[in-house]
Amino acid sequence: IPIPFPIQVHGKAGVKFRNWAGTYGSSPELYFQPSSVQEIQEILELARQRRRRVKVVGGGHSPSDIACSEDFMIHMGKINRILRVDKEKLQVTVEAGILLSELNRELDKHGMALENLGAVSEVTAAGVIGTGTHNTGIDLGILPTQVVALSLLLASGEILECSESVNPELFQAARLHLGSLGIVLSVTFRCVPEFRLLEVAFPSTLSQVLDELEEHLRRSRYFRFLWFPHTENVRIIYQDPTSQ
Ligand SMILES: Cc1cc2nc3c(=O)[nH]c(=O)nc-3n(C[C@H](O)[C@H](O)[C@H](O)COP(=O)(O)OP(=O)(O)OC[C@H]3O[C@@H](n4cnc5c(N)ncnc54)[C@H](O)[C@@H]3O)c2cc1C
Repeated sequence: IPIPFPIQVHGKAGVKFRNWAGTYGSSPELYFQPSSVQEIQEILELARQRRRRVKVVGGGHSPSDIACSEDFMIHMGKINRILRVDKEKLQVTVEAGILLSELNRELDKHGMALENLGAVSEVTAAGVIGTGTHNTGIDLGILPTQVVALSLLLASGEILECSESVNPELFQAARLHLGSLGIVLSVTFRCVPEFRLLEVAFPSTLSQVLDELEEHLRRSRYFRFLWFPHTENVRIIYQDPTSQ
């Protein structure tokens, strides 16, 4: 789909990308920080003209090379607005580059929260769903299970809305997109009423915690344990909703 406007967007040459841990990196030919969907469409048009591949990076936290590119790289940091908060349906629609730290603060203002999160918040809405980010809790799904809709910009320039009822097959794939299906522009998350957690932590051993795993999983909604490698030492952590 040819875009109906001239290409004005500029990419930076000479940028070196490193992921958060510094374990993977790349030197994209051009690095873009668009602030509108139109600019992203221009980048795709330029990539088509020059026959370049495009990769998007969110928070750059993936401990792999999944966001790396030697061609064009798009950083989504300026595509980060809250688009809609629906307190009745308990849903929030955000632009894909919003950090969860920003989203959590906004949801807090409305007495809402995401039901489950990963360990860090300087990661983006599209980034966490794209790699199937998980936390803990035997009754809770990975973060993509909290997605009710998203919009996807395809390489052709077409924008597709996806949900359980619209483009349902694409929706199932796109909510764990691995950065390979197109550019996620926005995501709608299912939320829950805001809640507080009480954390209780205590020591144990690896063999003991594995023997009693089922019991721990039933006893605490957000159960996890930290194992200190090359030792038997384990720290068990229970986190459970509280009114305190
Ligand atoms: C300290 C630390 C703690 C972590 N804790 C956990 C944890 O508790 N649980 C867990 O499961 N994981 C955890 N992770 C992994 C992290 O949650 C994932 O790697 C997540 O994908 C990072 O999000 P991001 O925004 O940084 O994505 P990035 O690393 O920037 O990108 C991830 C993928 O999404 C693609 N992408 C990003 N934005 C878009 C977009 N708008 N459109 C299309 N594709 C896009 C990228 O191309 C790439 O393929 C942790 C990582 C670190 C460094």
